[in-house]
Amino acid sequence: MKALEGKVAIVTGASRGIGRAIALAYAEAGAALALAARSKQDLEETAHLAAPHGRRALVIPTDVSAVGEVEALVARTRKDLGGLDILVNNAGVAKVAPLAETAVEDWRWMLETNLSAVFYGCRAVAPHLIAQQRGKVINVASVLGAVGLPGYAIYSAAKGGVIALTRTLGVEWARHGIQVNALAPGWVATDMTHAAFADTRISERLTRDIPMRRVGRAEEIGPLAVYLASAASDFMTGQTIFLDGGHSAA
Ligand code: NAP
Repeated sequence: MKALEGKVAIVTGASRGIGRAIALAYAEAGAALALAARSKQDLEETAHLAAPHGRRALVIPTDVSAVGEVEALVARTRKDLGGLDILVNNAGVAKVAPLAETAVEDWRWMLETNLSAVFYGCRAVAPHLIAQQRGKVINVASVLGAVGLPGYAIYSAAKGGVIALTRTLGVEWARHGIQVNALAPGWVATDMTHAAFADTRISERLTRDIPMRRVGRAEEIGPLAVYLASAASDFMTGQTIFLDGGHSAA
């Protein structure tokens, strides 16, 4: 029996990077999927890559910073896939700039996409997961929610918020049989980090913070996301697990 056989999962930010890797790991583990992000074409590519595993993969273009779209995503998933067991709040954005030079619009944009969207997702699934007294929420935080780095104050504030929200919601929903955990990647090679790692000076500076002296691959996040969605993690809630080459431990 596969770890997620018969389960239905929503994965946000599934159009590329870490979200696509999580979606493919879930498909391989037997879950049916609702794939959400803004780019329909890239979501269709993820669905195409998941197809060999034989599970349904619905493409649902969604802007996670729009509460109504998140609610529609949850309603459509339940209607078309016949239920909902797992929510992965993975969609995120980052813009690097000294705080003194950051526009208020950038604060709002990063907080909306990285933190408010997690609240919108959790709120939208709440009535359903509480009614069935079962469910898994996996939030994607970041090592920068726990470790400081110049230029990332707003991103870090949002990810620190995700870690705190995860802790409290894990405690709040324990009585409902719902586990809420976060995974916090360190530096992973994706579109989000491409520009930084394409510059040798920045790349050397960032890699110095990582005891393993390398960045992660998106595929290395999938197995932890499967664990947090599966029965194997039923006694764990409110936690954030760092998957970062030792960055947060140094
Ligand atoms: P990425 O390759 O840039 O992917 C970001 C994903 O988020 C895309 O699928 C994007 O899809 C989606 N997204 C962005 N804004 C959205 C919106 N308003 N509505 C819906 N979807 C939206 O980045 P990634 O590295 O895979 O990042 C995934 C998550 O991991 C993020 O939460 C990020 O903060 C976190 N993380 C990344 C790293 C790293 O080093 N890469 C480290 C720690 C944490 P569309 O553009 O199609 O909407």
